[in-house]
Amino acid sequence: MAGFLPRVAFAARNTLRSMRTGVQPNGKTRLVVETALRPSYSIEYGDNSLTVKLANTAQNSSILPKLASGTLVKSVNQTQVGDSLHIVATLNHRAAEMPKNQIMVLEPNGDNDYRLVMDFVAAKDTPKVATTSTENQTSDTTKKRIIVIDPGHGGKDPGAIGRGGTQEKTVVLSIGQKLRSALKTAGFTVYMTRNNDTYLKLADRAAIAEKKKADLFISIHANANPSRSVKGFSVYTLSEKASDEEAQKLADAENAADKIDVSGFEQFSKDIRIALSALQQHAVAEMSVEYANGCAGAMNRAGIEQQAGPAVRHAPFAVLRSTVPGALIECGHLSNSAEEKLLKSGAYQDKLVAAMLKSIKNYDFEV
Ligand SMILES: [Zn+2]
Repeated sequence: MAGFLPRVAFAARNTLRSMRTGVQPNGKTRLVVETALRPSYSIEYGDNSLTVKLANTAQNSSILPKLASGTLVKSVNQTQVGDSLHIVATLNHRAAEMPKNQIMVLEPNGDNDYRLVMDFVAAKDTPKVATTSTENQTSDTTKKRIIVIDPGHGGKDPGAIGRGGTQEKTVVLSIGQKLRSALKTAGFTVYMTRNNDTYLKLADRAAIAEKKKADLFISIHANANPSRSVKGFSVYTLSEKASDEEAQKLADAENAADKIDVSGFEQFSKDIRIALSALQQHAVAEMSVEYANGCAGAMNRAGIEQQAGPAVRHAPFAVLRSTVPGALIECGHLSNSAEEKLLKSGAYQDKLVAAMLKSIKNYDFEV
């Protein structure tokens, strides 16, 4: 459930602009609530209703809902409760709780203001036996999260190589294996894209995340820079446009791994794009950035040196092209001799893993 987002002190009062429903190509009901300012919201599920609570928003009775036919929504009403405006959708069936990537806030564009977009389906009817429903609730709240760890490179592709001869593929496999045991101990279900010195195509790595229905995908790398003084970690998420030139160069270098064997990627990439609506791609991107920010924060708090510039950057990394939220972590620079020594050391690897573990535990898997 979404808590209210932290409010800017005495933020300007928000205004309701429109409310509408629609049917998605996949049959999901879409509810859109448009507001003048970025909405602070929470969502409440009732027996036959869905209530969107908009903080610091005033009722506007001149705004009438535009309702499409064939949705789960029978009617939509506004109710002012103190400072909050409640948008109550009355449903003809109880709604299943929406996974996080089905709720998103879109930025204004064209004629549209901020839009809170929610896609949902009917909840499966639970048998009316008290013990069964209790069991269902328990299993829901203790759902084991699935993490796919992707140690970069491997086999014929060594990745970056330090002056002292340290190979990226070796360091990141060791970090990945340590992270796997830490996550398992913490109760996560963990899969590795590779667990030995083998070469794996980028598309196959992304495909493993898909197949395992992962909640989070973590690709582990170590960087190299022509300037040997450059050091520190950075965290990357997928964006078709790089956030800066350095990020683009890095994506080119990491993607080059597949030039050894490019077959398969284009089809996979196309399939993924078809499978995901633009809106879902947007949601996956937002969740990835949220994770990446948390990861960079945890690394900073652990005292791990950050590369100069922004800690979180964006670039078109092929390995991140999937429906699974995730990030590519460049743990440090093998081209810097001090950091090469650190990255090789078990103690420093443990420090990196402890920070990654914290960031995954703190990541909000559910809205
Ligand atoms: Zn790499």
